[in-house]
Amino acid sequence: MRPVVFAANWKMNHGPTAAHGFMRTFLEQYDRHMDRTVLFFPPALAFAAAREPAVERPDIGFGVQNIHWADHGAFTGELAAPMARDAGADYVLVGHSERRHIFGETDQQCADKCAAAERAGLTPLLCVGETLDQRERGETESVVTRQLKAGLSALTQCDITTSIIAYEPVWAIGTGRNATPDDAAQIHAVLRNALADLISDRAANVSILYGGSVTPTNVRDLLAAPNIDGVLVGGASLDPTKWLSICTA
Ligand code: PEP
Repeated sequence: MRPVVFAANWKMNHGPTAAHGFMRTFLEQYDRHMDRTVLFFPPALAFAAAREPAVERPDIGFGVQNIHWADHGAFTGELAAPMARDAGADYVLVGHSERRHIFGETDQQCADKCAAAERAGLTPLLCVGETLDQRERGETESVVTRQLKAGLSALTQCDITTSIIAYEPVWAIGTGRNATPDDAAQIHAVLRNALADLISDRAANVSILYGGSVTPTNVRDLLAAPNIDGVLVGGASLDPTKWLSICTA
């Protein structure tokens, strides 16, 4: 059984004070659920403040939003995976569409970042998704399959089995326009098959999340669709009340 994963990507929102306040409010109301895992990806500067109120909660995990592919060195402004691990991170987002499309991150860099994550003991959460143009040209399946296989290309079969994948159609991120549960489920099945090409029947162990304008209103229908093992949420994860109602859906 794959646990349901609820992952909050705060992007460049909530500094240390706001992050600490959010977590205290959320944890007062969110009881431990054995069948689900809640993950937070705060901005790096707010990481310690967000994590501190949750150190006694093994059902709550923390990750960073980005790492460099090198373990250390002259890369001003970057974060290294071993440092993230040392700070208490267990996860890292790789290949988020904002990294790919605003910062020009390539499939090769995603592969190198996944490898750096694994070297440091972080679980990569690899994001894949097509743009609106690619969708309209009928390229969705080939784009997400290419991004998945390229992003995982430097990992061992064992590491792939414990990684997490998120399908995030670029046209649905922050736009208020989510993929229908049927459309998302179709792409999740494509991703599951692509994983099976890499790790055969162990593909069934990998969690595939959906991301893109998830809200308290649409989360239940998305989670009820086959192969949707959780959600990666931006906007609606910034408000403790909305996030609580998503995590208890
Ligand atoms: C995201 O940033 O990963 C995301 C899915 O954002 P939103 O929920 O705001 O669409």
